[in-house]
Amino acid sequence: MASVDDPTPSTSNVCSRSGCDIVLKVSENYHNRVYHQETTRIELNDVTYTIHRDLESKKFVCPMCSTGYNDPERLRVHFFF
Ligand SMILES: [Zn+2]
Ligand SMILES: [Zn+2]
Repeated sequence: MASVDDPTPSTSNVCSRSGCDIVLKVSENYHNRVYHQETTRIELNDVTYTIHRDLESKKFVCPMCSTGYNDPERLRVHFFF
């Protein structure tokens, strides 16, 4: 097992929540969105939908057609087309 007092400094390239390697610093937002975001809000025709990540599939599921997306931004795009 990893030693608790591992002298290697934790780098910003490793997610502190899941321990995933994040290859590029710029992808950190993407990573957090896709892996750790729990809810997303989408406004459509004056109705605000709050969509929670499905616990089993770990996806944001479209309430209209049940298509699931890991990335809430992709669900948002899906909503408008
Ligand atoms: Zn993570
Ligand atoms: Zn849909």
